[in-house]
Amino acid sequence: MGLQRYQAKRHFDRTPEPRGSSAVARRAGRLRFVVQKHAATTLHYDLRLEMDGVLKSWAVTKEPTEDSSVKRLAVRTEDHPVEYAEFEGDIPEREYGAGHVDLWDQGTWIPDEAAVPSLRRGKLKFELKGRRMKGRWALVRMGNASTRKKDLWLLMKLTGEDGA
Ligand code: MN
Repeated sequence: MGLQRYQAKRHFDRTPEPRGSSAVARRAGRLRFVVQKHAATTLHYDLRLEMDGVLKSWAVTKEPTEDSSVKRLAVRTEDHPVEYAEFEGDIPEREYGAGHVDLWDQGTWIPDEAAVPSLRRGKLKFELKGRRMKGRWALVRMGNASTRKKDLWLLMKLTGEDGA
């Protein structure tokens, strides 16, 4: 996906968000994740997983929950630059995503299997080592053609055998 969509949506002379650069060195080893609580028109939680040199992103419609019986709707959004993992602050009125952003959680994530093909297949299982989100989670793309157009996923906590 790259950062074209991210950069096209934003005016970097008006928003404090990072522009992002494809020149950011790939860091070996641990992969970062963040959740940013974003009080935009509708409050949501942006889950971002470092993968392939960018932050793959989903807007989770409600606060993530440890309750494994609850599946949270997660709308896939444009890739964000890795620098975005540090971002907190206010996106000005009339700009894309206007509203306050707080870092709600941050840490590292470990995919069960190679992350890029898992993402393409629409099923990611992973471990989170955050301050709030820990243990095993899954992101699963919703099935039918109409939902796929919107790139709708479900975020869920895994327990039992799945969570082992
Ligand atoms: Mn957002």
